[in-house]
Amino acid sequence: MMESIQMVDLKSQYQKIKSEVDTGIRDVIDSTAFIKGGKVAEFQSHLEEYLQVKHVIPVGNGTDALQIALMSLGLQPGDEVIAPTFTFIATAEVIALLQLTPVLIDVDPDTYTLTADLVSKAITPKTKAIIPVHLFGQNAPMEEILQLAAQHNIYVIEDACQSIGARYRFANGERVQSGCMGHIGCTSFFPSKNLGCYGDGGALFTNDDTLAKRIRSIANHGMETRYYHDHIGVNSRLDSIQAAVLDVKLTHLDSYINARQHAAAFYDEAFSNHPKLQVPQRTSYSEHVFHQYTLRLKGVDRTALQSYLSEQGVPSMIYYPVNVHQQKAYRSNRYRDGDFPVAEELSQTVLSLPMHTELAVEQLTHITNSVLSFL
Ligand SMILES: *Cc1c(COP(=O)(O)O)cnc(C)c1O
Repeated sequence: MMESIQMVDLKSQYQKIKSEVDTGIRDVIDSTAFIKGGKVAEFQSHLEEYLQVKHVIPVGNGTDALQIALMSLGLQPGDEVIAPTFTFIATAEVIALLQLTPVLIDVDPDTYTLTADLVSKAITPKTKAIIPVHLFGQNAPMEEILQLAAQHNIYVIEDACQSIGARYRFANGERVQSGCMGHIGCTSFFPSKNLGCYGDGGALFTNDDTLAKRIRSIANHGMETRYYHDHIGVNSRLDSIQAAVLDVKLTHLDSYINARQHAAAFYDEAFSNHPKLQVPQRTSYSEHVFHQYTLRLKGVDRTALQSYLSEQGVPSMIYYPVNVHQQKAYRSNRYRDGDFPVAEELSQTVLSLPMHTELAVEQLTHITNSVLSFL
């Protein structure tokens, strides 16, 4: 009997690492160092080593990471921050929350990420930061974005919540981990993310000592010396039990990425030549770690496909059905429907298939056969 297919299968993954994870969690409970325990420091240094980045600052979740990143830059209300409209809401939410001005832009139809050209057109004298989102697990074209940012003296904060472990290749051959190219990178350890814990978690990455110090302080109530508060901060921390889970899962991250890439290759093989399907395009500059495997449908009734798949026991999801500029909370006279034709088309035509580390060949076969038989 084939195991039932899920979008994300955390249970089967856990079964394989159960003894390691259980031991890690039990050690934390025995130590009672639930907050700021040694486990957090251990995980932090293991992640710094994995990413080859100078500073990892663990925080409570990915949204906090993005918010703290923006807070650390000393921006003023009204300063503009460029971000793609086709993303998870958190990217734009933190900009608005801090009374900065989100300047939304369209994305590339093949990679679903923003492009340097689109960023360039959105830059004004008020632009202070750009947040490229490495959507679905593939890096945005960072080399060009970093060049543009340097020319205009703009900060780059990478939203690497979906892309941990995806290396970028610069023209000189240098490879750098996702989230470690800009001034600050942000990631999420939400359970379904590529490196997920068993609750909430997140982290910021930076190679800048000054920013790292400020970020650490802001995440800890703006404190430098105990009970002396130099900035207005927040309370955002990764707890030790989550760090114990992550420390185990980090040792498996490369094999998890591999499993995702194998599943993606299987999907590609089945779908690449179909006239009604566009498979996720790969770029020459980035690895793809497939947080999602997202098809773009061409002339297909998506709702009908989804219900057919559901009848076949195949779950599917739409990431994301509504762009930021079309969300009720973010409507402004700055934007009109039709302003971002690519993102608007994508929100109507994308479909994400099950993607996780535990997909068996017979499950993949059933998924691809189901999609193809509907078409
Ligand atoms: C998950 C995610 C976030 C937010 O992370 P949380 O840990 O859920 O707060 C932000 N941006 C993107 C692109 C994400 O996928």
